Amino acid sequence: MSNNKNAQVRVRFAPSPTGKLHVGGARTAIYNWAFARANGGTFILRIDDTDPTRSTEENTQVILRAMQWLGLDWDEGPEVGGAYGPYFQTERMGLYREAAERLVAEGKAYYCFCSPEKLAADREEAAKRHDSFQGYRRTCRNIDPSEAQARVDAGEPYTIRIKVPDDRGDVIVPDAVHGNVTFNAKELDDFIIFRSDGTPTYNFATVVDDAAMGITHIIRGDDHLSNTPRQVVVYEALGAPTPTFAHISMILGSDGKKLSKRHGATSVEEYRDAGYLSDAFVNYLALLGWAPDGESTVISRERLASEFSLDHVSKNPAIMDPKKLDFINAEYLRAMSDEQFADEVLVPQLHAADLEPVGECTHEASWYDLLSAALKPRTTLSSDVVDQARYLYTADDELEYDQKAVKKWLAKQGAREALVAAKGALATLEPWTPQAIEEALDPIPEQLGLGKGKVFQPIRVACVGRAVSPGIGDTLALLGRDHTLARIERAMELTI
Ligand code: GLU
Repeated sequence: MSNNKNAQVRVRFAPSPTGKLHVGGARTAIYNWAFARANGGTFILRIDDTDPTRSTEENTQVILRAMQWLGLDWDEGPEVGGAYGPYFQTERMGLYREAAERLVAEGKAYYCFCSPEKLAADREEAAKRHDSFQGYRRTCRNIDPSEAQARVDAGEPYTIRIKVPDDRGDVIVPDAVHGNVTFNAKELDDFIIFRSDGTPTYNFATVVDDAAMGITHIIRGDDHLSNTPRQVVVYEALGAPTPTFAHISMILGSDGKKLSKRHGATSVEEYRDAGYLSDAFVNYLALLGWAPDGESTVISRERLASEFSLDHVSKNPAIMDPKKLDFINAEYLRAMSDEQFADEVLVPQLHAADLEPVGECTHEASWYDLLSAALKPRTTLSSDVVDQARYLYTADDELEYDQKAVKKWLAKQGAREALVAAKGALATLEPWTPQAIEEALDPIPEQLGLGKGKVFQPIRVACVGRAVSPGIGDTLALLGRDHTLARIERAMELTI
């Protein structure tokens, strides 16, 4: 085990662009980023695009944009460069071949000419014999190197296999999350590091890169734990120091099963588009498996970047809890000033929904501040504001009424009287502010001998089209006098 304690921390996130960035990958990226920041180290982004059939440029772009949205700035990698590049594996192919050939020359790897058919037949026989070892029988391990080279030169198809040293005892993987994990070296086989099509295998390319890039800590999903002993063997063959590993748990759905589409959104961009804030989303994912103190649910990015440590990462599977994510998101929204909420949430959301103000619903900053103050406490996802503000962006004669609300509040005894009284109280009211509106409407229930709900709900339904909205003063102040009066007038037709 190498001792990296005093070494300059270098970590990498190495997604394969075979799909979008999912929550599991995002959390891995967050932990790498936070670990680098907390240790004054370097965070590297490397694109593992060696699988040509499944990697796409579009996915790479989606991943980069997702990383940017998450606010995980990388110190080396695509778009920023760095001293250890290139940072796309497809641009590093020469390095893998060079490394593999060096291992062959040093007798640490060898050419294998076994055809897939021969390998399959060997396996079948071993199975028939109930042999406990069903791996590669090391058929080509002892071919004389000059003979092997001659066969390669003659164009015979080959793979390159690593020679797991005969005397290699158990491989013990030092893991910061799981402790020392022991693997039996015999079971590792002389595994392939270069395929017959001339491409390196994952276990080889990743180690060549991690060694060349000076990676000190490998933080990744524990689906890679079983690959790690093979990677340790490659480090040893290359003569490179073994980094510290930290394999973090999977994220499961609330039913305990692997997270999938059935559980709802899985990719970062889906969460972004659904209206989650980057800070809240990062906060939530960071706490899925890590806790600085076991209590805090709201942890700022700054705290994460200064306090993150592998000591407090849990090895138990994390369960995605959408309710907790919503709770944290709402907390972040509420913590915003009205102005910030208007600038960062409200206006962009309304804009994206193509809502244009009608009538004198002004563009003035104060109007947006009022709308922010009214909607902020009622917003869980940024996108919630669109639905809540829609009544302000609809022409009076196009406002749709929720039929249940009409039945319950407008088509009722007393509703007409309430609307008439409201119209009278508001027709010439000055100033047109939430407080003045509330004061003007306040005496009506008593005057008419009706309960408050029977007065304010008909007004609300008349102006908003439904029975739920912010306080009546805010609701009408935002709408403006002319629209309020026109809608009250229109709604009278719905009364009995
Ligand atoms: N490209 C690999 C993946 O996405 C990287 C695994 C690793 O971190 O070594 O699973």
